[in-house]
Parts: sequence; structure tokens; C-alpha cells
Amino acid sequence: MNINWIKAETKLFLRKQVVIVDICQVESYNHQKRGGSIRVIAQQLLSQVFLSSAQKKLFGDGVPILAYHSVGNPPPGVKNPYLYVTNAEFDTQLAQLRDAGFTSTSLDECNGFRGNPHSHVVISFDDGIRNVFDNALVVLARHQFRAIQFIISDLIGRRNEWMIAKGDIPEPLMDQHQIRDWLAAGHQIGAHSATHAQLVCLSPAQAREEIIGSKKRLEDLFGVPINHFCYPFGGYNPVVRDIVVEAGYRTACTSKFGVNNALTPPHELRRIAPLSPPKLLGTIQHRARARIRSFGWNVLRRKSLLAASVHTASLSDLSN
Ligand SMILES: [Zn+2]
Repeated sequence: MNINWIKAETKLFLRKQVVIVDICQVESYNHQKRGGSIRVIAQQLLSQVFLSSAQKKLFGDGVPILAYHSVGNPPPGVKNPYLYVTNAEFDTQLAQLRDAGFTSTSLDECNGFRGNPHSHVVISFDDGIRNVFDNALVVLARHQFRAIQFIISDLIGRRNEWMIAKGDIPEPLMDQHQIRDWLAAGHQIGAHSATHAQLVCLSPAQAREEIIGSKKRLEDLFGVPINHFCYPFGGYNPVVRDIVVEAGYRTACTSKFGVNNALTPPHELRRIAPLSPPKLLGTIQHRARARIRSFGWNVLRRKSLLAASVHTASLSDLSN
């Protein structure tokens, strides 16, 4: 292994920001504080702990959109248990929000203000997972919060195929009846594409199908306007964002960390996963492992491509 190759890979490693600041997603939270001291990084980490004093302070700067996935105990063998919040944890978190004076609002109201003058919060769920229907409805009603579920239009009543394809365990998704009951309980739905595709990897025509097609299908099935979109895997670029705007969605949620105010673009809304300190550390570890795995895989792939190109060059030398 030669030293220049190691240097090049190390540079690439750093350029890809596989460092703790990026893993914690704090780099996108406050640009003017970037590259700051350990104290600043610690403060930013603390702001990711659910309703810590640092997070409450952050919630005063804009409306937080809380991003949940599953409610219930993580089943054995699940790849990312940090996407689950138990019934008791969910109940406690909503009670804490209520006790701190927060009330829920819709995505239409989340970025029109300086700061968060009405102590609003948006509660969102990704993927339309059935355990949310089974476990969260009663808790939301008890604490008088409203929520939005982002539905994958071609997978209604089916399973989390995009995760199963990566070796994860199956989770049933809400069916049409359950989504109707969800709406009847006073909650909203938004679109999360047709198949949970990574939109930035598609052609503009395919992305259009996913973004425009899912809106139309949900509106046809449930007879309600679908005004809000959530990028699958949080992945978007200017082309994808412009298609979302063109489709007529009023807002779109990303996976970037932060709160929302008058300065936040409506199609690049920021969200926050409600995490206890052990879950925050677990999530950081999980992300780090995933980054390191994908880094190792990219190195191997580049090495094999290099070997292939050397091999091709040798063959072309021979043919000359
Ligand atoms: Zn999703």
C-alpha cells in the first residue's frame, strides 16, 4: 500500500466530512459557528438532546418539526433500533412538550415567523408504519397533539420494501382503512414519494413520476389535498426540489437538523429527531458505523476500478 494512496484516501475521507461534527449533523445547524471550539460542539450536541435547556433555547429560534418513524418496542434483529420510540417514551415526550407550553401546528404555519412566538411544534412521522397507527393515536389524543404521516403511495397496506431490500426486518405499513381512520382522528397525511426511491439518483422524468404521481394517487384515494412532501432518505438537490415546487407542494421536509422560521426555505424544512442522551450517543455510533462501512466499500470499489483501468490499459497497450 503506497503512502500517496493513503494520503489521497485520507484527504477524501476528510473531504467527505466523516468526522464527528458531520456525523452529529451539527454542521448544518449553525454555519457561523462552524469549525468552532469543543464548547460550541458540545452546545450543539446538547441541543440535540430532547428538551434539554439547550434544545428549549433552540426551539425559541423557530418552529421545531419532530421526526418520528416507529412507535413501539424495536423488534429483535432490527438494523436501526433508534428509529423506534417506545409507547412510554412517546407518552413522556408529549407530556414534556405539553408541560413546557408547546402546542402542535401544521407545516403550513411552521416557517412564517421570526422565532417561535406561539411555542408551536410540528409532529411528523415518516413512512406510514402501522405501529404508529396502533400505538401513537391514543397518545396523541391524550395530549391533544396533531401529527402528519408521510405516506409512500405505492406501498399502502404493504411492507417497508426499501428496508427489507437492505436486509432489514419487515414492518407492515398502514392500509387504506387505517389511513382514513388517521385522517378522521384529525391528523394529516403528506407524500413520501411512490416507492421510497432515492430521488437524487433518478432521472428528472423518474423523479417527476415519484413526486407528482404520489401526490395525485394520495389525493385520488383519500380525497384530501396533499400539500406537503418529505424527501425519502432526506435526499434532494435543486432539480428534485424544483420538481416538488412545480408539483404544487407547499412545503417539503429534509433530514437536516434545525428549526424553522421566516428565513427557512419552505421546500427545505429542517427537522429534529427527539433523542434521549443514550439514544443520541447510540445514533451517533450507528451513523459512524454506516459511514465507515460505506467509506470502506468506496475504497474497495475505487481500488477495483483502478485495477480494472490498469488492466484495460495493459490490454490496449498489447493491441497497439
Ligand atoms: Zn422514509
